[in-house]
Amino acid sequence: MELDPHHPLYTANDYFKEVFGEKIIKITLDGGFTCPNRDGKLSNKGCIFCSTEGSGEQTKRSLPLEEQFESMKEKMAPKWGYGKYMAYFQPFTNTYASLPMLEAMFTRVAEFKDVCALSIATRPDCLEKEKIEFLGALNKKLPVFVELGLQTSNENTAEYINRCYPNSVYAKAVEELKKENINIVTHIILGLPGEDIKDMEKSVNFAVESGTDGLKLQLLHILKNTALGHIYQKEKFPLFDIESYTDTIVALAERIPQNIVIHRITGDAYKPCIIEPRWSLDKRRVLNMISKKFLERNTFQGRILKEKETEYE
Ligand code: SF4
Repeated sequence: MELDPHHPLYTANDYFKEVFGEKIIKITLDGGFTCPNRDGKLSNKGCIFCSTEGSGEQTKRSLPLEEQFESMKEKMAPKWGYGKYMAYFQPFTNTYASLPMLEAMFTRVAEFKDVCALSIATRPDCLEKEKIEFLGALNKKLPVFVELGLQTSNENTAEYINRCYPNSVYAKAVEELKKENINIVTHIILGLPGEDIKDMEKSVNFAVESGTDGLKLQLLHILKNTALGHIYQKEKFPLFDIESYTDTIVALAERIPQNIVIHRITGDAYKPCIIEPRWSLDKRRVLNMISKKFLERNTFQGRILKEKETEYE
């Protein structure tokens, strides 16, 4: 699609409209998974930014998936109405279970009425060959998106945040998922301690060069009941303010190829859990400021790459 300062990003909505012909409503589901970085297999500490709920503060883990789906659908209806849905397995590591269990769960949800796509958030080290093959087979029935939590390509930061896998594992998982034509969305956190814009740009480039189809650019949130929250409360470290964050999004986007779908440019933490940055709670203001900066700077996603291409023609 043609991007310009008035429509500066190739968004998930743009992509879904191209593929499905309409807006897709995302329904978050909790499959009751845990995480090898929490249950002791790799570590029992978890990534330092991750809450004990594994981003599942708003899901209803104890309910059967059918009930979760129906109740989320009703909750979303006042804002989005009814339509086609993407079932999004978000909390914890959604391929960290036996293959038969995953087959039973994902196949069942894929058959829920009006579900037209599945999105599965996971760690790249929890995608064994047979699981990828199963996801590939499912992807022939309906589009399957796999969301990988890379967070950073800086191995020192990765160690600091206790990610517990090296970059090579991410690159290999992307390679294998691509063989099955699975759509890959990579989650990158902006503003991790000690990182500057160069680190963030390197993380984005690493994901793009590895073959990701989409990016979720997530502002670092310091959450209550997390290791990072405790570190921050003991000794504050610099965080983005709204000006520098919105500048960073524009600067990164200018260097992201135009075929990469941008699924997120802010943060979506559960309000009662956020310690900082509180300004991020006004999401509308953040998004408006980003749109304004694209316009003022007469720029858009991939502009710098396009200019380089033209130079060499
Ligand atoms: S962020 Fe993901 S990988 Fe890290 S501890 Fe939380 S659920 Fe596990």
